[in-house]
Amino acid sequence: MARKTHALIDLNALHANYALAKAHAGASDVIAVIKADAYGHGMVEVAKALQNRTSVFAVAFLDEALTLRQNGIKEPILLLEGPMDRSEIAVARANNCWLMLHTPQHLEWLEPSDIAIPNQIWFKLDTGMHRLGLSETEFLDFWQRQSPEILSDLSAHCILATHFAKADNDQDFTRQQLKSFARVQAITAMRTSYSNSPGLLIEQISADIDLPSESFVRLGISLYGGTPDSLLHPKYTQALTPVMTVKAQVLAIRTIDAGEGVGYGQIWQAPTATAIATVAIGYADGIPRFAANRMHVMCADTALPVVGRISMDMITVDVSAIAEELKVGDMLEVWGAQQRVEQVAQALETINYELLTRLSLRVPRFYINT
Ligand SMILES: *Cc1c(COP(=O)(O)O)cnc(C)c1O
Repeated sequence: MARKTHALIDLNALHANYALAKAHAGASDVIAVIKADAYGHGMVEVAKALQNRTSVFAVAFLDEALTLRQNGIKEPILLLEGPMDRSEIAVARANNCWLMLHTPQHLEWLEPSDIAIPNQIWFKLDTGMHRLGLSETEFLDFWQRQSPEILSDLSAHCILATHFAKADNDQDFTRQQLKSFARVQAITAMRTSYSNSPGLLIEQISADIDLPSESFVRLGISLYGGTPDSLLHPKYTQALTPVMTVKAQVLAIRTIDAGEGVGYGQIWQAPTATAIATVAIGYADGIPRFAANRMHVMCADTALPVVGRISMDMITVDVSAIAEELKVGDMLEVWGAQQRVEQVAQALETINYELLTRLSLRVPRFYINT
């Protein structure tokens, strides 16, 4: 008998979130961002589920795209981190991958034939994020050195992109980023892509900036039902359906006396006689060790505190509230339908993105509503 701990991936929920994103995105194409194993949901399965709905996928780097190709995914794939070295450009081209160019060196590697293919070359501008991207000056220097023929190919076929640093909590900063972006767009007349999930969810941010509507939005977390950081607002949480539910199996139940501790270091002591369930999920499965005495797991709608240290394979939970009903072998929800991953993330001082992507491959994913 296998360990029953698992993650349930609801593809209906994925489809509903995709449809919602599509409705929000208006005329823009929605690129499904499935890097990092589709934020822990299983890149190949998610790609297969979205194949007939989205026309483009995005991953971080070429190796991820090649995994998709080996599994029969045919749609174009945008490589968000661009080529790692010059030779990757040819491999990317041969595999119908689009490239985000973001350093002056990338620009030197570019051949006229790369530019002639629609959508294949993306230029990333650093408009304030200061992580990846060309400065306005770097990009406009490049622009001014091109022949008229190249310039017309660039305008016709390439995409100008940027990434927001504070779209979820600072509209002034985001507007500043958009203004810088708009300056370059006005000169180059390229089609654009600038929204990720938080960008798309914020309305009216660019109402007074003269920017054409974007050709592509790049959506990750919202497809998985996650709200962007600090947008844990009913408006979003009600609209987006969590795709992943993690459930872990109760391995043992015991009652300890007042004053007794549980687990390594005995960092938690029972204030009164307490029913403790030992549950089959630990830090090797992706539960942060920081969760000790901080998070809850759910039994239906009862929240049960995780007490004591997180072990490699197990957590210990105060199940006194449901001690009568709970049996060895029962499943408790770690996050998902009963408790959103955002709530767990808040309790652990992290974000849904981190919890989802760190769920280890030891936790099998089961797909429903396929
Ligand atoms: C990961 C990523 C996205 C998707 O972001 P979400 O917040 O998950 O929607 C979009 N654009 C770039 C450049 C990214 O790296």
